[in-house]
Amino acid sequence: MQTVSQAAYSKFIEQIQAHQVQYATIQGDRITYRLKASHGGDHYETTLETGAWPELQTLLRQYGVECSTPQTNAGAMGALFGLLVSAGMLAGALAWLTKFSEAGGGLGNVAGVGKSKARVYGQGKTGAKFADVAGVDEAKQELQEVVDFLKDGEKYRRIGAKIPKGVLLVGPPGTGKTLLAKAVAGEAGVPFFSMSGSEFVELYVGVGASRVRDLFSQAKRQAPCIIFIDELDAIGKSRGNSAIGGNDEREQTLNQLLTEMDGFDDNSGILLIAATNRPEILDAALRRPGRFDRQVLVDRPDKSGRQAILQVHAAGVTLGENVDLAAIATTTAGFTGADLANLVNEAALMAARNNRQAVLMADFDEAMERVVAGLEKRSRVLSPMERKTVAYHEVGHALVGALMPGGGKVSKISIVPRGLGALGYTLQTPEEDRFLMLEDELRGRIATLLGGRSAEEVVFGKVSTGASDDIQKATDLAERAITLYGMGSLGPIAFEKQQAQFLDGGTTRRTVSGEVAAEIDRLVKQTIDQAHHQAQMILRHNRDLLESTTEILLETEVLEGEQLRSILAQVQAPEGFAP
Ligand code: ADP
Ligand code: MG
Ligand code: ZN
Repeated sequence: MQTVSQAAYSKFIEQIQAHQVQYATIQGDRITYRLKASHGGDHYETTLETGAWPELQTLLRQYGVECSTPQTNAGAMGALFGLLVSAGMLAGALAWLTKFSEAGGGLGNVAGVGKSKARVYGQGKTGAKFADVAGVDEAKQELQEVVDFLKDGEKYRRIGAKIPKGVLLVGPPGTGKTLLAKAVAGEAGVPFFSMSGSEFVELYVGVGASRVRDLFSQAKRQAPCIIFIDELDAIGKSRGNSAIGGNDEREQTLNQLLTEMDGFDDNSGILLIAATNRPEILDAALRRPGRFDRQVLVDRPDKSGRQAILQVHAAGVTLGENVDLAAIATTTAGFTGADLANLVNEAALMAARNNRQAVLMADFDEAMERVVAGLEKRSRVLSPMERKTVAYHEVGHALVGALMPGGGKVSKISIVPRGLGALGYTLQTPEEDRFLMLEDELRGRIATLLGGRSAEEVVFGKVSTGASDDIQKATDLAERAITLYGMGSLGPIAFEKQQAQFLDGGTTRRTVSGEVAAEIDRLVKQTIDQAHHQAQMILRHNRDLLESTTEILLETEVLEGEQLRSILAQVQAPEGFAP
């Protein structure tokens, strides 16, 4: 039974900006929406303010809120709203186009093309080169290969090598995905067709699909060339699982895109590049061979990457002698390329405002405050205390993981914030391919998962909210150990029905008696408690190592290789310890 509460429109906007909204259904001017489970999961209803649709659309997209707009019965209200919306969208599009052509001065021949609305840049005229992109060396390296294909396709074709059809750039917003795509075109010297996923899909059914068709037919005439689809998730969301009704228009657009991708052969000289910051919601069909078969990760930069990006953006400004880019790189953990570009620009503005000839370190300090204030709203930059908590947490995982079986060798600890939500991570690489897990390994794995939270408890005597994902995973594992693998006193009876692996439905529990259910819960709790206790014991016993390692990690942000190995070799088992 779901109850729906009324909310003010302004409240709705606030909740979106606070990343609390899971999805929204917009029907006429009525918006029903639901908060994420982590924020109570409640349903609300509010009323769209007149003319606010374009902004709302942008906002929903920016904050990754799932949204559906079911077709209304064409009542009077619906028709009126339809008009309002399209007028609003048109105004939005016009404003955007004007803005673009102002900025487009240096970009070469920018022109809107017929129906497809794609922006076309002439050969190598995107105004970007690889040298403009820094701190993402691995991605650049992979794309360098793609540039070679485009430049000298004949060479590859002669040997019969298959040229990739589609490259998917995956990474958080502002890390340089769009810039990289433009750089590929700039380096290869081929035409570049650019369109954003959200521009395909409009109100009227069939428009998106025809835009896709149009885009590809234009591109075919200009091959070799690049088609770039930004924000692929706007059309590439997996089909048929939307929570509230389907979205025919989007599905049709996606189907058309898949058809077009299958329709041109490897030798046509068209390369499709797409970008997304939400790879997890993409339709699996997009990743089949012959479609986006290459994925390139464009991640937030580490310290040296940040310094390189600062250098790129500082190249155009006069720096005072006291400006230390390495020092700035140190204090900007979690910043993306876009944030760093913004920082340099703010500092330059600050210097100009003060009538200085050069940008001084003081300008950077002041700019930092502004930029960080902006970022904190988007909850991306950690306070020193938060950073410390994350560092202890990750070291906790690593130290417990070094001692406990089941997770493989701890090969990397990082506190460079990654993706949405992950503030740090500890990487364990299995020593060999494992298909079976022994009971002690399972328990070890659970203890390692709880090592992060345990470190927080041992050090601070309290826990943060950062461990929720670990706890979820640990609980799942414990539950599976007991109900699926028969590893508890209930014996080898499967209490979960296993489902075919490619159905995402997960597992559901067999109907069991109340007593058995209570027993399962008790055993799960017991398993978790034991592992938790073990993790705490290990960390208490290795308290000095926990402190010294955390200190190093706070300084370097990433620990790996020989340095990490020698630290982990020092972890000692508590007395009487049996994993
Ligand atoms: P994304 O598409 O991943 O959201 P963009 O490519 O739009 O990010 O980045 C926005 C701007 O931020 C770029 O135009 C550039 O000025 C700056 N920027 C982002 N990443 C980098 C990078 N790795 N190196 C240099 N500049 C970057
Ligand atoms: Mg982009
Ligand atoms: Zn964790």
